[in-house]
Amino acid sequence: MCIFCQIAKKKIPAEIVYEDEKVLAFKDIHPIAPVHVLVITKEHVESVNELVDEQLAGRLILVGKRVAQDLAISEKGYKLLFRVGADGGQEVSHIHLHVLGGAKLYEEIRAE
Ligand code: AMP
Ligand code: ZN
Repeated sequence: MCIFCQIAKKKIPAEIVYEDEKVLAFKDIHPIAPVHVLVITKEHVESVNELVDEQLAGRLILVGKRVAQDLAISEKGYKLLFRVGADGGQEVSHIHLHVLGGAKLYEEIRAE
């Protein structure tokens, strides 16, 4: 079972900030911003490439928005980020939406 499936099934701990029957949001273990939360599907979906359920896609984004509101970063602004596959820098092969904020964030898109 992948690491995020284990978090979804509560087999390994995480600092959960939101949960419903379809998705889970928890704090990133190595935050790169003052607020850094990951929103995952409870069901294993590898990446956006494998995402077909439009409702689930919408839920991930709306839960990202809700987390930003709950953690008081929505007014100043934040970043929602999906990495997809190797070139996208995705390291965990279970879809996750990064919610990043709490400071002005630099652009960091560079090609090798
Ligand atoms: P990505 O590079 O987009 O695949 O991001 C994976 C993210 O998962 C990284 O920001 C990691 O810090 C985070 N991460 C990995 N393992 C855990 C964990 N057990 N709990 C919370 N976050 C994790
Ligand atoms: Zn998984």
